[in-house]
Amino acid sequence: MSDTVEPAVIVAIDGPAGTGKSSTSKAVAAALGLSYLDTGAQYRAITWWMISNGVDTAEPAAIAEAAGKAVIVSGTDPAAPTITVDGADVSAAIRTQEVSSHVSAVSAVPEVRTLITALQRTIAADAAAGIVVEGRDIGTTVLPDAHLKIFLTASPEARAARRSAEIAGSDVEATRRALVRRDAADSGRATSPLAKADDAVEVDTTELTLQQVVERVTALVEERRAAAR
Ligand code: C5P
Repeated sequence: MSDTVEPAVIVAIDGPAGTGKSSTSKAVAAALGLSYLDTGAQYRAITWWMISNGVDTAEPAAIAEAAGKAVIVSGTDPAAPTITVDGADVSAAIRTQEVSSHVSAVSAVPEVRTLITALQRTIAADAAAGIVVEGRDIGTTVLPDAHLKIFLTASPEARAARRSAEIAGSDVEATRRALVRRDAADSGRATSPLAKADDAVEVDTTELTLQQVVERVTALVEERRAAAR
């Protein structure tokens, strides 16, 4: 056993929906003893708050005005991540189709991104051993100095099949259309769109098992750590 303390390591994992970001990020964080942050859950949580409080998600000005009112807290244990809004557990409520269909509009509002980005940077700075942060703009905007940036991709068909398998009774073709629509909105927005950072390592997960992706990313983190020693 080594008595040297590893410096905190920051890992950014970005990519569109259904590429395996959450499963990969949680497994890598657990394997390496790091914290884990699902930034999509934060955008879903603020979207859930807007819907619950009757804010019209088609009105960016109304969203901007209300954005600071929701108190969002993320628990960063990869074995049991949590998310609360104003103290209430919303981990199930943020996964509905209703939230999924409004989240791109809410997350495109610059005031929302400024608030959530500040929250994400504080959480990352507080993670003593380091953290795996997953999202859309982590490597480009939130944590541009991350030690390792990964950009996960997969074919729309593979992504839809994975998402659909998670939701009982869902239609693969409808899921594919919804994913492609959400990606287009996330990639096309003006403020910190979904994008691969120039220095990110791209991993196409279409033909890979989750275990293969986890092994690949874990090895890359270990490599970066060794290089920094
Ligand atoms: O990762 P997930 O699919 O749960 O993300 C939900 C939505 O949150 C995305 O479609 C996107 O609109 C938004 N998001 C974002 N920036 C991030 C993470 C998620 O805009 N870093």
